[in-house]
Amino acid sequence: MGRMSLAQSHNPAENTGAALELLDVLCTLLLGAEDELNGLDRAIGDGDHGGNLARASRSLSELRPELAELSMGEAVTRAGRAVVMSVGGASGPLYGTLLMEMGKALPDEPGPGDWAAAFAAGVDGVARRGRSAEGDKTMLDVLAPASRALSEEASADLHEALAAMRAAAEDGFETSRGLRAKRGRAAYVGERSVGHDDPGARSALLCVGAVADFLGENKG
Ligand code: ADP
Ligand code: MG
Repeated sequence: MGRMSLAQSHNPAENTGAALELLDVLCTLLLGAEDELNGLDRAIGDGDHGGNLARASRSLSELRPELAELSMGEAVTRAGRAVVMSVGGASGPLYGTLLMEMGKALPDEPGPGDWAAAFAAGVDGVARRGRSAEGDKTMLDVLAPASRALSEEASADLHEALAAMRAAAEDGFETSRGLRAKRGRAAYVGERSVGHDDPGARSALLCVGAVADFLGENKG
């Protein structure tokens, strides 16, 4: 099994092994971004977004041995539950829901189309749980266009699909900056949120970019 293989193996738990390498990458990334994300959240929220995701990352790292025994769908669902349980802020239940809904949608041997469909299900779950939509200046401003781009390109070349997903995430992030927050704590600062980067949109962009890098580099 090559490093990229978030896909093909006949042992359900073996598939999960490659995904755990991606989990490590994401946890390390988010721990390193703690100060940046806290800073963004201080400007239009309460300054804890980086700390919240750092706590989630530490809890996922602790869960790693348990995740390694599960099928892909079970592991992603279990990871989502851990994120919900470890984070008090809004982003915990929302990122947790993203993962739990993705996990529910994943077959044991997911291919690119399955990942795209699972990502779409996860994004729907975030919108339902947050009663929010793209354009509200939240993580959804990045996740929704990224998911759409991946779904549109999932049957094409993997590199192209990942590049399209990343470009859509970056566009969504840039567009979001000029919007006024309608959900979450940033909604309380109203007009003053315009021109600021949303912390959740930033963390979502970091994660989407890291996923694109990981899968792109480990292709084949
Ligand atoms: P809290 O707002 O409870 O302090 P965090 O600071 O960890 O939680 O997360 C804030 C981020 O969560 C925001 O920047 C935004 O992207 C996201 N968020 C908050 N509320 C919602 C919502 N209703 N729908 C979607 N995303 C939301
Ligand atoms: Mg906060």
